[in-house]
Amino acid sequence: MLQHHVSLLPFTTFGVNTLAQDFFQTDSVQEMIDFLSAYSTPYVVLGGGSNILFTREKVSAVIRMDNKEIELMHQTPEQVLVRVGAGMVWDDFVNFSVKQGWYGVENLSAIPGTVGAAPVQNIGAYGVEVSDCIHSVQGLFRSNRERMELDAQACKFAYRDSIFKRELKDQTIITHVVFRLRKNGELQLNYGAVKEEYLRHRRLIPSAMGASSGDLAAIEDLSVLREVIIAIRNRKLPDPKVMGNVGSYFKNPVVSVKQAMALQKLFPELPVYPGKDDQSRKLSAAWLIEQVGMKGYKMARVGVHKLQPLVLVNYGMATAGEILALENLVALNVQSKFGISLEAEVNKY
Ligand code: FAD
Ligand code: NAP
Repeated sequence: MLQHHVSLLPFTTFGVNTLAQDFFQTDSVQEMIDFLSAYSTPYVVLGGGSNILFTREKVSAVIRMDNKEIELMHQTPEQVLVRVGAGMVWDDFVNFSVKQGWYGVENLSAIPGTVGAAPVQNIGAYGVEVSDCIHSVQGLFRSNRERMELDAQACKFAYRDSIFKRELKDQTIITHVVFRLRKNGELQLNYGAVKEEYLRHRRLIPSAMGASSGDLAAIEDLSVLREVIIAIRNRKLPDPKVMGNVGSYFKNPVVSVKQAMALQKLFPELPVYPGKDDQSRKLSAAWLIEQVGMKGYKMARVGVHKLQPLVLVNYGMATAGEILALENLVALNVQSKFGISLEAEVNKY
């Protein structure tokens, strides 16, 4: 359906008011193709709006895939291949998978947004990245509206990154994601306090369901882990319904081993985490921001969250200009003290 002069406030989580002159959404891929074939205005593809900052008061056009189907394509005793519509709420898919006893996405519980956006930045949390269980990504090329299908390797997934943020940035409309999930998986508990909290909660659940059936035991294990992840997140991360935000505003910097060691000599407390390979290390952007004294910092209607400094928050009615000014100040302070350039994770239009 095509609408005009639509406020994007309810479609985005930062609480910044932007007006879309045209707004088209549909749950049909063919309808999207037909609409775009006769439409020449430049547009932004929107999912759940939880990783977007519109920097102007008006945007000419926004389109959204709203298809929410789940199709079981193939299964073996070990795994399933499941094709999911881009418009499905990400956490509804996680909940569905957990209830089936399928392993893979449980650590990604409660991440806002849609299935279609998950491959874009290769969403990740608590030691798991969505690329670990993506089989392929399907959609349309925006230039000619022809069908696209990329296997996981072609998506060039990396830390909070993929081909959809680089060579194919704003070139595609993702319509479906195909996931490969395991039936006999293992829980990923090696991140911070996850294991300890999981074991504590697991002991509280009577084993009435568990012991006899493998499937039921899996559902029980996955459900407990999901609840633990949700509880940890709720304790620390601001709810966008209460306080506008887009989660981590900045990416954690990935640097060379040499640079990490040099920095650690100067700042012995600097947390350094393994990178994806032997040559790289990941630094905590939250720690860097805290060290420049900006944890909880407030600047008019925006601020740095008091519990998680990677998150910039909108205390109400802030403009994109105020958010960008805060971004610049945080990045400048970190650059001056550590010589590290923080890169924004949020997508700006
Ligand atoms: P949008 O914000 O709508 O779009 C993001 C980008 O994807 C845009 O460039 C958009 O054009 C593009 N896009 C969206 N849909 C499509 C499509 N169908 N086809 C092509 N391009 C598309 N992220 C994490 O990785 N881990 C976390 O733990 C996490 N926690 C968060 C917690 C909070 C409180 C918030 C607010 C955000 C968090 N995020 C996290 C960030 C965000 O939830 C994810 O990046 C999410 O995948 C964004 O999905 P979305 O549907 O809202 O995308
Ligand atoms: P946290 O657990 O306090 O950790 C702080 C930072 O240290 C994280 O960014 C994390 O990197 C890194 N880290 C901690 N333990 C690690 C380990 N064992 N191995 C590797 N890296 C480790 O972070 P948090 O803010 O509460 O978030 C918890 C999880 O949710 C994190 O995975 C985070 O990425 C994710 N999250 C993401 C967003 C977003 O918008 N992108 C928003 C909220 C939460 P990683 O970020 O690489 O994990």
